[in-house]
Parts: sequence; structure tokens; C-alpha cells
Amino acid sequence: MIDPDRTLKDSVTPVFNLPNGTPTNQNRGDSVIPGSNLPDETPMNQNRGDSTMSHEKEIDYEMMDIGQTNGEDVVDHHMDDDRMDDIDNDHFPEDNQSASNNQEPPVEEAKKKTTRKRVSGNDSATPNKKRNTGGRAKKPKGSDCDDAAEGEAQNEKNETTVIKTQSGRTVTKPQLLTIKNDEKRRSTTKPNAAAPESEKDVVDVETAKPCKKTAPTSVSAEKVRQTELIAQNNKICAHNHMQQYLNKCSKDSSGYKRAEQILKKYKERPLPFCEIPISAVHPDRQNYRNAGDFLLKLVAPVPSDFSKASNLKGNAQKCPELLQTGKLFVDCWKDSAWKIIKLAQQYKNTGQNKVYESQNKVMFPEPSILGEANEDDFFKFHGYSKPTTGDEHEKKRLPVTVIRSTKDTKDEDYTAFFSHCSIAVVEDFGAARGIDDEKFSLESLSKLINGKTEVEALMTIPEKSDSNTRSLYNVGEGVAKDSGWEIQNIRRTFSLEKLTKYYKDCERISSKACERLVEKPYDHEEIIGELIKSHLEAQIPPPEQFPSGAIVSSFLTNLDLPDEVLEILKPELDKFPDCFNPSSINNMLKHVDGTLNGIKTPQIYGKIYGSKTPGHCENGGVASINYNAGKASAIWYAMNFEFIGEFLKFMEDKGHDFYNSAVMPDEVELAKRGIIVTKFEQKPGSLVYVGPGTYHYVHTAGITVNVSWNLIPKTFTQMAVMALFHDHNALKNYESVIPLEPMLWNMLEQNEKFDKLTLRVFLAMLCRSLAHCTMEIGAAENRGMNIAFLGAEKYKDSFLGTLRCSKKDCRKRALFNLITVDKSRNIHCVNCAKATDKVYAKFTLTQLAARYEKFKEDNGLNHPLE
Ligand SMILES: [Zn+2]
Repeated sequence: MIDPDRTLKDSVTPVFNLPNGTPTNQNRGDSVIPGSNLPDETPMNQNRGDSTMSHEKEIDYEMMDIGQTNGEDVVDHHMDDDRMDDIDNDHFPEDNQSASNNQEPPVEEAKKKTTRKRVSGNDSATPNKKRNTGGRAKKPKGSDCDDAAEGEAQNEKNETTVIKTQSGRTVTKPQLLTIKNDEKRRSTTKPNAAAPESEKDVVDVETAKPCKKTAPTSVSAEKVRQTELIAQNNKICAHNHMQQYLNKCSKDSSGYKRAEQILKKYKERPLPFCEIPISAVHPDRQNYRNAGDFLLKLVAPVPSDFSKASNLKGNAQKCPELLQTGKLFVDCWKDSAWKIIKLAQQYKNTGQNKVYESQNKVMFPEPSILGEANEDDFFKFHGYSKPTTGDEHEKKRLPVTVIRSTKDTKDEDYTAFFSHCSIAVVEDFGAARGIDDEKFSLESLSKLINGKTEVEALMTIPEKSDSNTRSLYNVGEGVAKDSGWEIQNIRRTFSLEKLTKYYKDCERISSKACERLVEKPYDHEEIIGELIKSHLEAQIPPPEQFPSGAIVSSFLTNLDLPDEVLEILKPELDKFPDCFNPSSINNMLKHVDGTLNGIKTPQIYGKIYGSKTPGHCENGGVASINYNAGKASAIWYAMNFEFIGEFLKFMEDKGHDFYNSAVMPDEVELAKRGIIVTKFEQKPGSLVYVGPGTYHYVHTAGITVNVSWNLIPKTFTQMAVMALFHDHNALKNYESVIPLEPMLWNMLEQNEKFDKLTLRVFLAMLCRSLAHCTMEIGAAENRGMNIAFLGAEKYKDSFLGTLRCSKKDCRKRALFNLITVDKSRNIHCVNCAKATDKVYAKFTLTQLAARYEKFKEDNGLNHPLE
């Protein structure tokens, strides 16, 4: 799954590592062009709907009133109707038509000019991977100004307002970024010619500022300090390795109490949680993170007047980006497909997108004081008392919601609870559902999978859950600096056999040491010394980034199971509630064509003490589940959706890229910035549900196995959050693994039913897509390309699965209606194609319009055509 255990690329690989050869759409296994199936004849490009425009029907405008839901649970949203209907268009700041803005080329053009190398390694067979930028030279703090920040400041200063809330938190108004800033941000860091004087003394590693030139004396001082740190960390590590086995020792042993005391010092302190009944209405459920209004206005705003909007004149030879957020100039309740197409066709002549705002802007919500207060009251009501003193108070954490699962908890209870939930733990899940954890153990899996199978592992120096000490690592000649939040996770490939043996060895030596400690607690020092030695012997030899003498853990990550193994595990997987099932009617993943490893299918994570999963949101902002089928806890950090905007800015301030940097953000630093995290324990047998747009990172407390996959609940929140992430991915030139546009049309095709709020968001997204399809055809025609309209059947015969543009800079953009094929049979989007490439379309605009209208009609939004 893209998720919980999102993996990162070997940090020794340079950032700008381009894939070998020309990318094709075949690397995902879901886009195949069977040999000779491409049709040769080019059907007439007719029926573009122009002649049918007279069908426009006047729809009762009352339909806009979301408030009229006739008691459907949809609007159990508690947003005031006023606020929802009275969506003021000022919400999207008018662009000032400044000269520079006017000269800004359309998105695609801009991209072309700054041909940017993407971080994309040679692991194209497993595309659902984040990339680590760990190998990159650290940028000094404050050097942001040399590339990103100036542009950022200029463009953002009028949108960013800092506000102090009652609770003293500093929050920032919604942030607004433009593609221009992104281009700047991604430009190569300029070398800082003159390093400031102060950077000379960097001897004290703990407080050292990053420096570029290091005097030889400081290197050796750093090395000495590093050696001390390693010795200290090895001790912590050895104690923690034993932790897991204490409960297996006899409590009657005379040394048990003493051993317990020794280990207790190293144990994770209890983390805040609040148990609530599954029937309780969590504040999330009423209005997701208090961002419901925001999301509605963002994705499905009331129509804006095009003549008042400042719209850039695009290049009519290129199709504008499909955006799912921002202004709409049509009324998706009322306007017919024909009207939308007619407006979108004007793009061909004028370069103006009269359907949706095609300037690339992305906004995230701001934290709401109201939401915070509601949440406090809710937890208080359920017996949680906020610490008023001590470390916990300083950390300002939110407690995690805990549901206790029993055999009586029904599938519908899970569906209802998780339909609007940002993060929660389901305790006793495995026991209640009768899941046989043993089936997921590496030992039993390695009997089903060939032991020689190469699997990926992340190597790291295991630390406490709140530590991320970069100076434990070697970087080139010297020692890494403790700035930023970057995680050193070095990706390596090993045979499954080798990794399984490694975990077994670690288990054996640690449990043995624990037994000895209970027997002879006064030999503590000696036992620890020997255990450290044994771990150093048992571990997989680490690469050079790791200083010698450091215990290094290897964490099996993103293991996709072969189909036959999935089949064997099916009885266990079927024990999960229906709403988590990829083919459930409650899970929109069923509308995604083809297989998406780790998204639609479970992935296995073999973890050991100190394994770190870097911070991330799921691809496309979708939800996920993670079940702990092992014997040790995982320690999670989660940041709710309303903090993501502020967090993104924080990442950038620190010189990190939201999608490509492997980080473990420091919670105290986050709290100072007004970003509140949840830190909680996922015990063995517990399931974690991660809701739409929730950022999370995970630490592991011992040897365990996690099983994880994604889900797309059919809710307003999930659909709107997907739209937001779709656009943010486009802005950041990051691959959208979940093909949103094809998924929307599949949902329409299969006549998916929605509550009214979700329907409104769905239609808003669909009408943007309809316009996009129209403009795509227009751009192809402007370039003199002949389009072969295949029709669904022929298209299906010719192309399988989700098709994606294979141009490097096009981030494997998922294609929906129009595809181009070059002489080497590479698939491209129309913007990346040569004018001589073949162009195929799945549907004519008439066909698309007919489907669109039929769907509206089925949902009572249209009168039959007269
Ligand atoms: Zn492309």
C-alpha cells in the first residue's frame, strides 16, 4: 500500500536518477497494448455534439439546495445550510491580472520550458514507491531563500495571514500555491559561494548547524561524538529488543521484578487514547475535521461568472490540465452536458477555458478552533482528561480514538463508524474477527513464497520512537548533521529467506538475553554487552552510510503477495469487515481498473524494533487500513487533514519535498507551529484506520508483521479530499497512482448511487472532466491530428487497464478518453504527443454527453429530453 509503510528509495541513489530507457506503460502491468490490435482506419470525427446543443433543459434551481436532503444521512454533516448554499465566490481570491501573471504560460507550457528531471529510479516495476532524497546534500537551514522562498514569498504574501488562536496556537490562512512557485522550488540548489563565518565551529554535533566546509579537526571530533552516540544507542536498542520477551519469562523468577525495572526505563511511555463506543458520533463524523464547508467550496463551488474571472489565455494547441478544485463557470446541477461541451469547445478557438479555472492553484484548509473545542469536549465526555502539566501537556497531543472490537460488532457498525473518521484504532480486532495471525507470519509466508524471492528492505539505525538522530550516520567523508527531519532509510534488496532468518536470529538472541536477565539481573551490563555483540553478528551487513559498530535493522517493506498466496490467505482476508474489502460496494476502489499492488491488494511489512515508516499521506489522499498481525506494538504519529496545509509550508521551510523527502517530523517543533499530532500505540491484533488525507508516520517497538491496503469510502469527504490531492499531485508533478478520471467515469457507467452532497461533488468533478475531454479533442484537432474514435468495445480490445502518459515529465498522468501512440508504441497524452502520432479516443463527445445526461436523469436531475 502506498501507505503506512510507504517505502523509500535507497538514499545512496542520486536524486536525479532517471529510469533506464524509455518508460512505457507496461511497467505497472496494467496497461498493455496487445500487438496488432490497433485499428488502422480512422473513423470520422463527427458527432461532437454541436448539432444537439438545442437540448439544453432548464433544471429547477432548487436542486442546488443541498439542505433539502429529505432526511438522507448525507447531511448529517451539520454544516449550516446557509453556509453551504451561500458559497461566496470571494472564497477563491481573484487573481490580479498582473503583467507577470499574464505572461505565465499555461501549465503544460511551463513544464515544457523547465524540463525537470524527476526523481524516478530504476524500480519501475513497483511504481507505488516514494523516493528518498536522503542521498542529497543537506541544504543549510535558511538557504531556502536562495531558490524557493523568494518566489514563494512574492506569491503567497497576500494570501498568508497569521492568526493567534485562543489556545495560543499560531495558525495560518489557507495557503495557495501556484505552479510557478513549484518550478522555482525544484530548481537545483545553487551552491552557496561564501559560507558564513559562523559555520566554522561545528564541533558540537548536537547543536551544530549544517555546514559545507568542515575543518579536519571537527571531523575527528564529530567521529568521536558519533562513536559515543552509537554506543549509547546500541544499549537502548538492546534493551528494547528484549522488551518483547519479558512477558514470556516466569514472573515467579526471583529476578523478574528487577529485570522488569531495568527494561521499564527503556519502554515507551503510555500514550494518550480515549476509548469510545463504536456507535458514538465522533466530531469527525459531523463535519470532517471541520473542513466540510471548505471542501465543498473547493470542489463544487457555486458557479462563478466567467466574464468577471481573470482567466489566462492558454495555448489552444495544448489541453489545459484537468483540475478538480477551483472555480466553476458552469452549474453542474443545472447545466446540461451539451452546454458544458459547447463552452469547452470555445477553448479550441480562444484558448479560454470557460468551464473551470485552469490555473493551477491548490488550497488546504486551516485548523479550526471550533473543531478543536468540539473534539476536546467529545473526549472529555468520554472520560479523557487532558494532561495539564508535564511533558504530555507540552506536547499538546490529541488522544487517539479507540474502538474496542467484539464478536458482536457488525460490519455495518464498522462501515458507519469509518465513513467519516480521520484516524482510529480498533483494539482486539484480530480476536473479534477470528483472524489467524500466524497465517501472516513471515515464517508461514516464506513457506508459500519461494525463499529466493528478492524483497525490499529498509535499513536504518533503530532508535526510540521520538528520536531521529542523523549524526549517527556517515555522509560521504563526514557525519550527517542533525538538522531537518530527514530519515536515513537505505533501501536494499535481499532474498526473503535471508530476511526471515535475520528476524529469527534477532528473536532468538533477544529472547535468550531476556531470559538471562530475569535469571541474573545483576549481570545486566554483561548481558547487554553480549546482546549488542550478538546483534552485530546477526544483522545483515550494512552499507557504508552506517558507521561500524552500529546495530542496524532491516525492515521488510511493501511485500506484494503473489496471486496464489493471496488466494490461500483469502479466508483470513475475508474476515475483515466488508467496508475494507477492495470489491465492497462501500469501497470505490472497485471502480479502479486493473491491479494496483499495495492499493487494491494487501502488502506485508516485516518489522523489527526501530523500523521507521516515513511520514506520508496515502496516494490520492485516500484512506487505508493497517492490521498488526505480529507480536509487538507499532507506535504511530498522525496529523489530521486540517493541518496539512500548514505542515506543507513547514516542510518547505525545512527544504523538504512533501512527496519525495523521507521525514519523521518532530512533534515538539510541530506543536510550536500550531500543528497538533496524535501519537498512539497499535498493539498486536489491533487495526488502525487512516482516514482521507491523514498524514502519518510509524515506528516499531519490536518484531512484528503488518498487513495494509487502501480503501476509498464512498463519502463526500473522501471524494473531495481526492480532488484536492489530485490537484496537489499535478502541482507538485507527482504521480497520481489512483486514476481519478477513469474511476469517475466507471462510477457513472455503473450508475453508482450517492447521497446528495457526494453527488454534488461527483458531478462537479465529472463536468470538469467532460470539459477536459472536449478541450483535449480540440487541442488534437488544432494540431492537425486525426482522431480515431474507437468506442468502448474496440478500445477495450486494444488497450488494457489504466493508460498513462509515458513522457518522463508527465508523471505517468492517467489518461481517460484520448490517447496517442507513437511509432515505438509508446502511449502519451495529447500534450506530450508529436503531431504525427496516432490518436485514439474511447468515446465521442456525443457518447460522453449521453452518458452524463443519463446519469443525471437517473438521479432525478434531468427531465427526459423532449
Ligand atoms: Zn503527457
